[in-house]
Amino acid sequence: MIKALQIYNTLTKSLETFEPIHQGSVSMYVCGPTVYGDIHIGNARPVIFFDVVKRVLEEIGYHVNYVSNITDVDDKIIEKAKSEGISEAQLTTQYIEAFQTMVKALGSDLPDMMPKATDYISQMIHYITTLIDMGYAYETEQGVYFRVNRINAYGELSKQKREALEQAVRIDLDQEKEHPNDFSIWKKTTDGLNYHSPWGEGRPGWHTECAVMNHEIFEGMIDIHGGGSDLMFPHHENERAQALAHDQHGLATYWMHNARLDIENQKMSKSLGNIIYVKDLSDLQKQAFRLLILAHHYRQPIQYSSQLLEQYEKNYQTLLKKLRMTKLELTASNEMHKTLDASYQKRIIDALLQDFHTAQVVTIIFEMQKTLNKTQDTKEKATLLNTFEWLLPIIGLNLDLNISDDVKTYLSWQEARNSQKYREADIYRNELMEKGYI
Ligand SMILES: [Zn+2]
Repeated sequence: MIKALQIYNTLTKSLETFEPIHQGSVSMYVCGPTVYGDIHIGNARPVIFFDVVKRVLEEIGYHVNYVSNITDVDDKIIEKAKSEGISEAQLTTQYIEAFQTMVKALGSDLPDMMPKATDYISQMIHYITTLIDMGYAYETEQGVYFRVNRINAYGELSKQKREALEQAVRIDLDQEKEHPNDFSIWKKTTDGLNYHSPWGEGRPGWHTECAVMNHEIFEGMIDIHGGGSDLMFPHHENERAQALAHDQHGLATYWMHNARLDIENQKMSKSLGNIIYVKDLSDLQKQAFRLLILAHHYRQPIQYSSQLLEQYEKNYQTLLKKLRMTKLELTASNEMHKTLDASYQKRIIDALLQDFHTAQVVTIIFEMQKTLNKTQDTKEKATLLNTFEWLLPIIGLNLDLNISDDVKTYLSWQEARNSQKYREADIYRNELMEKGYI
């Protein structure tokens, strides 16, 4: 049976009981990367969190269709391709691959579909034409703009007053714009990658890419639209405005936004030179980083520091050793049982159903670890281990519990110890230590 899930909906600013549009299945779209460079650890937060959202939804019985787009046409892409003397396609292919490698290295699965903006250009042109025909968009010398004042609900998602929005939009130089809030949905240009359209050569605006891919891939509204909180305005507000205009309905029932990750109280930025790239973390650090992310509620900002990561590295390693050793002991003594700890299981599921409260789950993990440290009861050890093995895939925490043929080494170690052959015992002990049991 599917249990009641509570989701904090940015649109209504409240916790709501999740009700999917189609019974038993969930459609989810999360705004993906613009591929002109490597991802940093701030970009990694939604990559980890929305992967967990999918896993939890599946655990409670939903079929999930998780789509995350790739923006492969953009001013920054064109600029970078030029500076490197390669084509935009060469550049984006390279960084799409790099992105996917990092997604997997962080313990996340690739989304079910990763549509590229450049594969939907003709649909975007068609969509923009419809918006113009309906009176929601207009052409100027520089491009095509969306007429924001036609949408009464504009500002509803980001909860901003229209006047505040006007100040928030970047000052641009197009004097022909009817209103400062109007945003570009087609840019006229022959510089770099461009396409032929009824408005001359150019390329689509970023907000239109997501609106159109949603429209093309899903039929009608979707259940969850997600991304980092920095995308709420203008990107998500503008995506939604286009859907309201084009389809007369909002894009998604639930809007979910993860909070930011800052480096010691500062925003990560090139100018501050404090960017930490995922690729520069070791394999162990990447796993520890996932644990660190999960240890914070997704709506809580994270103040990242190298000390904080170190702390989670220790936590991760201690847990890994404990679980590996427990499994080895139990396997060697033929004490594996199939039972799970129902009380821990219930607490974990309850936490996840409460707006994906992974922070609470991590607290429970440490509590289970403590219990495991204390108990001498093999049945209880086995039950706890099984509960861990059930839980870890739900949050995508990759702890290698494959003990393969190390049981033999463990038995030899025990035998040497029992027969007081300490030098021999030490050799086996070192071997187990090297393999991460001790
Ligand atoms: Zn988007």
